Amino acid sequence: MYVLKRRANSCSYICKPCAKAKVARFRATPRGKQRTAEIDARSAIKYPQRAAARKALNSALSVGSVLKQPQCQFPLCTTTRVQAHHPDYTKPLHVVWYCTSHHARLHAQFRLISLS
Ligand SMILES: [Zn+2]
Ligand SMILES: [Zn+2]
Repeated sequence: MYVLKRRANSCSYICKPCAKAKVARFRATPRGKQRTAEIDARSAIKYPQRAAARKALNSALSVGSVLKQPQCQFPLCTTTRVQAHHPDYTKPLHVVWYCTSHHARLHAQFRLISLS
């Protein structure tokens, strides 16, 4: 029985929702927040255009010159939790709004294209 219990608690495999919850919990801790800030800072150095585009977009959103769309702009998708996607980082205020899954899918496609 003991072995069985240990097996059930082992972390060799975590399903996606569990992994997500774990990451979210870690990010909420002070150490997690620091790590997230470090990763952000590093990616800003690596992708300065992206960081600049995000910054410009955030200020445009706060003054209302760009409006967040209420729904994912992928055809037929009705998800209302959306993220800004920049088709071109040199046009920081030109964004398309996608839900997390369509946004991730789009970037996965870009990666495939750039690998081929
Ligand atoms: Zn994007
Ligand atoms: Zn969507």
